[in-house]
Amino acid sequence: MATICILGAGLGGIPMALEMREKARKHDTVRVVCDLDRYQFIPSNPWVAVGWREPAEIEVPLGPMFKKRGIDFTPMGAERVEPDKNRIILKDGNGCEYDFLVIATGPSLDFSAVPGLGPRPGFTQSVCKTDHAMEACKTWHQFVKQPGPIVAGAALGASCFGPAYEFTMIMETDLRRRKIRDQVPMTFVTSEPYIGHLGLNGVGDTKGLLETVFRERSIKWICNAGIDGLVNPKGFVIVNAYQQNPIFRNVFAIGVCVAIAPKQATPVPTGVPKTGFMIESMVMATARNIRSILDDREPEAEPTLNAVCLADFGDSGVGFVAMPQIPPRNVNWSSRGRHIHLAKLAFEKYFLHKVRDGISEPYYERYIFKALGIDKLKKQARTTE
Ligand SMILES: Cc1cc2nc3c(=O)[nH]c(=O)nc-3n(C[C@H](O)[C@H](O)[C@H](O)COP(=O)(O)OP(=O)(O)OC[C@H]3O[C@@H](n4cnc5c(N)ncnc54)[C@H](O)[C@@H]3O)c2cc1C
Repeated sequence: MATICILGAGLGGIPMALEMREKARKHDTVRVVCDLDRYQFIPSNPWVAVGWREPAEIEVPLGPMFKKRGIDFTPMGAERVEPDKNRIILKDGNGCEYDFLVIATGPSLDFSAVPGLGPRPGFTQSVCKTDHAMEACKTWHQFVKQPGPIVAGAALGASCFGPAYEFTMIMETDLRRRKIRDQVPMTFVTSEPYIGHLGLNGVGDTKGLLETVFRERSIKWICNAGIDGLVNPKGFVIVNAYQQNPIFRNVFAIGVCVAIAPKQATPVPTGVPKTGFMIESMVMATARNIRSILDDREPEAEPTLNAVCLADFGDSGVGFVAMPQIPPRNVNWSSRGRHIHLAKLAFEKYFLHKVRDGISEPYYERYIFKALGIDKLKKQARTTE
């Protein structure tokens, strides 16, 4: 009997727990440890920040769902991991033993790296966490009463640029709806070498698409922008091709906490995004690999890490599919229009439905992606199933 512990219950940790419950043997224990007792759909944070969503609309309580699925749940933060003792030390000082550990703790935001950055004690707003978005919403309601210039963007070291574009466009849409856009000069600041780089050296015509939208919406931009005082990103978990730590081989990691080196040098360091679809591919590979080890086999499943992204602008949006992530690619598709906004709404409803129901990958999902030619696992891994 093995205990498989998943640390973090976000976009990666929840499907990981559900998938692991399916893949593990009946007598194995799957346990989730998370500092939040509910799931928050982070991609909806920009809507929370402008008051288009109430936080309760994007939250799902996790205890009942995990219970229904036979998964142990400890709603408590982890203080540290002791991989040489196969245990996690929780915030209350208790230990949580494991045979396998999957780390899915997401990003640790380092606002202190840039003096003044971040909501508290800094002077900027953030949509990275739902709490930040709620705070930003209060500021937004004050701002629209007394509008002025806005500077938005992604700080040096950021790896996921879509949200910065999204929130900029959503604010712009909200200002137009309020008929006060003319009072708000807007500037987008980014470490990317050009608009639409997205940490991926562009996808299809994202450069043209996003520059066009910025021009149409009168948003100025500044690229290659560093901010004084930032240290190098650190603390990301090192994994091999199987999402497994090379030293502690019973420790795996999925999601934003994984170290993925930028694939291409840029004048100002520009990270690689780790978004939902990629994370799901990490989840599938990790669950299969832990099961392989439980069956005394070597891990063989590798995630594809293909990027599928929908950036919402409030009334339209830009979407892209990048397979593989870094060019030259087999699929290099990007598109702009209202259909992307509708697709993002559908994504929100669909993902929240999956979490409420406790399903990691409904049977029809893999057929849909297969039909679209988007794989979550590399072929070599699939042949070993
Ligand atoms: C504004 C915004 C919009 C986005 N839009 C999209 C989108 O449209 N599509 C997309 O694919 N991606 C999008 N992303 C990115 C996506 O949200 C992340 O890639 C995803 O949430 C990362 O999943 P994760 O499981 O790695 O981390 P998270 O979802 O952040 O989950 C981490 C979990 O670990 C918990 N945790 C952290 N530390 C501890 C600890 N010490 N002990 C216990 N628990 C802990 C946290 O509370 C949290 O529950 C967006 C991101 C932002 C900020």
